[in-house]
Amino acid sequence: MISGCKRCNRELKSQKSIAVGYGPTCQKKQEEADAEFLKIQIRIDEELAY
Ligand SMILES: [Zn+2]
Repeated sequence: MISGCKRCNRELKSQKSIAVGYGPTCQKKQEEADAEFLKIQIRIDEELAY
């Protein structure tokens, strides 16, 4: 099985990247996207609470 980055599909060279599923650059971008997504989710939850 070839391990590629889930974002850009590039070959992952370090064990760390393979474990995460992303290359270092994409991991950072993915984390930022996840953080942004979470923020939006929290906002929606707060709006529904009222
Ligand atoms: Zn990538």
